[in-house]
Amino acid sequence: MDTVKFEDLGLDTRILRAITEMGFEEPSPIQAKAIPEVMSGRDVIGQAQTGTGKTAAFGIPLLQKIDPKNRKLQAIVLCPTRELAIQVADEIRRLCKFMHGIKVLPVYGGQDISIQIRSLKGGVQLVIGTPGRVMDHLRRHTLKFDELHTIVLDEADEMLNMGFREDIETILKDAPQERQTILFSATMPQPILDITRNYQKDAVMVRVVKKELTVKNIDQYYYEVKQKNKEEVLSRLIDMYNPKLSLVFCNTKKRVDELTEALKGRGYFAEGLHGDLKQSQRDRVMKGFRTGKTEILIATDVAARGIDVDDVEAVFNYDLPQDDEFYVHRIGRTGRAGRVGKAFTFVVGREVYKLKDIQRYCKTKIYAQPVPSLNDVTAIRLEKVMEEIEEIIKNEDLRSMMRVIERQINEEDYTAMDIAAAFLKKYMGEFEQNTLPKREDDFGDTGAEEGMVRLFINIGKKQKVRPGDILGAVAGESGIPGKLVGTIDMYDKYTFVEVPRENAADVLRAMKNTKIKGKSINVEPANGRM
Ligand code: AMP
Repeated sequence: MDTVKFEDLGLDTRILRAITEMGFEEPSPIQAKAIPEVMSGRDVIGQAQTGTGKTAAFGIPLLQKIDPKNRKLQAIVLCPTRELAIQVADEIRRLCKFMHGIKVLPVYGGQDISIQIRSLKGGVQLVIGTPGRVMDHLRRHTLKFDELHTIVLDEADEMLNMGFREDIETILKDAPQERQTILFSATMPQPILDITRNYQKDAVMVRVVKKELTVKNIDQYYYEVKQKNKEEVLSRLIDMYNPKLSLVFCNTKKRVDELTEALKGRGYFAEGLHGDLKQSQRDRVMKGFRTGKTEILIATDVAARGIDVDDVEAVFNYDLPQDDEFYVHRIGRTGRAGRVGKAFTFVVGREVYKLKDIQRYCKTKIYAQPVPSLNDVTAIRLEKVMEEIEEIIKNEDLRSMMRVIERQINEEDYTAMDIAAAFLKKYMGEFEQNTLPKREDDFGDTGAEEGMVRLFINIGKKQKVRPGDILGAVAGESGIPGKLVGTIDMYDKYTFVEVPRENAADVLRAMKNTKIKGKSINVEPANGRM
């Protein structure tokens, strides 16, 4: 891995300050390569996609070139979509937080053009826009290229896919000859190469060359989550799998600190590790983790480099890594010494595409998993409690305890079952009782696909049941055609199956006293899903 530091890149101190505040620990691989080239003033072709840190890779040098005293348009970034334009503008604004006098404006279709015109009149040096709307402003002369010195094409392949080729070429032709042209694209098909040939001069190509890396012995799963739900999903997964030692990766120091505090607040034994810690603090954190006092270590990629602990049972990619290689390095912390490890990756929105790249690159399969509901967590927790209870029954002398219970039964009107159930409830804490829905069609959100209801069945792989058995039982008992039965997710001791909403009540009724492979089962609607 590269070990370039932001301090080595000759950046403006105000940008360095912003980077520190944003919590970036080190340049991402594409930044380490692209920033010096873009700063040299050359035309650059960057092959990188969302999530690699490409925006800062061109944004940082761009900001260094802008003269805040000149109020005229100096640089333009073309983006395929309104969302991306806003996102890029936000990132660049954060980067120039301490640079006074730089005005950044996103312009895109769908927003009232008169608002944009008013903002442009106030003097904007950097415009981030979709090609169509930029053309519109050019025609109205509300954008002028006289002092333009830099053009960035961001996600160029996407822009071509969306039919912006003509607009882009017009813009490039209209721009001053003496300019720097930077093109970023995830892929390099011929039309992109044509653009670079026709509109860039002596361009240098930057991309991150990858080593061949493989992953073994690691079960890999991913979860599509919303950013705001990550903390809850992480907690549920930790509760469900209860790994002895877990390593959680975040992309910035700030996120490490925030997550560490949040997990501590939830009562976990968690500590954070990143480059801002003094050596003595690092040593203390690492000692805690090695001895098992700290069960969850939250770290940045940089900080984790020195970690050498063998029995990490689970790695969580709380943030998707910025580079495919990082993925391999991260998850390689588990599954050591012949053990099978688990790796869980959270993806938000479009990041799911980046995951495809990672899989291709690592020649590995990362399986989609539904976000665990509270029911799943309860089921797993219950399983764990019952296993502990079994151990106690087998190995401990319980006679004196039994006498106490006996006395209670004799003196009060309780059965042993009442007492056992009450103890279980107390031990498990507040756990939701799964009751059948009040109305037949009132299943609430069970986390199923549109039009479906997700059912929980307390039987799974361990009982030698296969998805076909579940399908057969659901279809056979309720009479609904097998092809209407949706996704079946099997776990060791339980299974989720989706059925059409209109049939859900019938299925529940029909399955009430059935057996699967000779075992009595319980079927309930899943709930508590995010
Ligand atoms: P991008 O590839 O530009 O869409 O960036 C993806 C995310 O990574 C954004 O949220 C950036 O703020 C963040 N980011 C960019 N550079 C770094 C870095 N060097 N370290 C950590 N995070 C970064």
